Amino acid sequence: MKLLGLLYSGKAKSVYRTDCPGELVITFRDDITAFDGGKKDNLKEKGRLNLEVSVFFFELLEKSGVATHYIGKLGEDSIVARELTMIPLEVIVRNIAAGSMVRTYPIKEGTKLDPPIIVIDYKDDSRHDPMLNDDIIMALKIVTGEELAAIKQMALRVNEVLRDYLATIGIDLVDFKLEFGKQDGTLYVGDEISMDSMRLWDKKTGESLDKDVYRFSKGDVMASYRMVASRITGWK
Ligand code: C5P
Repeated sequence: MKLLGLLYSGKAKSVYRTDCPGELVITFRDDITAFDGGKKDNLKEKGRLNLEVSVFFFELLEKSGVATHYIGKLGEDSIVARELTMIPLEVIVRNIAAGSMVRTYPIKEGTKLDPPIIVIDYKDDSRHDPMLNDDIIMALKIVTGEELAAIKQMALRVNEVLRDYLATIGIDLVDFKLEFGKQDGTLYVGDEISMDSMRLWDKKTGESLDKDVYRFSKGDVMASYRMVASRITGWK
């Protein structure tokens, strides 16, 4: 496979065209940002750790019957992925109240949300990713009603698979964000599933094992990322 040039560069990943039709290469960079880009750093090894965890989860999801864009690993910091037409939605699933949920609504951090809650934001940094509801999604014609139902069903299935696996290694899946896209009419989970896009709490200590360590300067981000990546993927 040959790389043909940069297609898109986001806050933490770069996407390259390739000479294989319908396939892209996504590189996970060491850049990390928070608060709409208001806090920025470059942390050596961060890209590789997020990539290893994303690959682990994509493989677990595929085994569980969830279609993802993941095709294979390429070197230490890249994956080959299906070229999707991305849907500009950030689909967040919450099992425990935290983050913007407790900042916005009168609910205590740590409150269990059973059944889990799905929150969908419009992916647009210039508008600060505003929260949508089903009627707004329909009015903006972002997806059809059937597609929205399928997206929600897939997001809940991803939640079950990830939450059940993480529970076996002593980690609570507090919340996470997914992005979806389509290729030839089929819906796939795209983007990444990593410490940058999830909230993970140690079941025993309640310690954050995710990007909140960076957002709120809770400690050594890379030590947390290394430790949680090794717990998730089973490396020694
Ligand atoms: O900030 P908030 O509490 O709404 O985030 C919910 C979850 O979605 C968190 O796990 C966060 O890391 C993730 N998220 C993300 N990218 C965004 C917004 C939220 O990965 N743009």
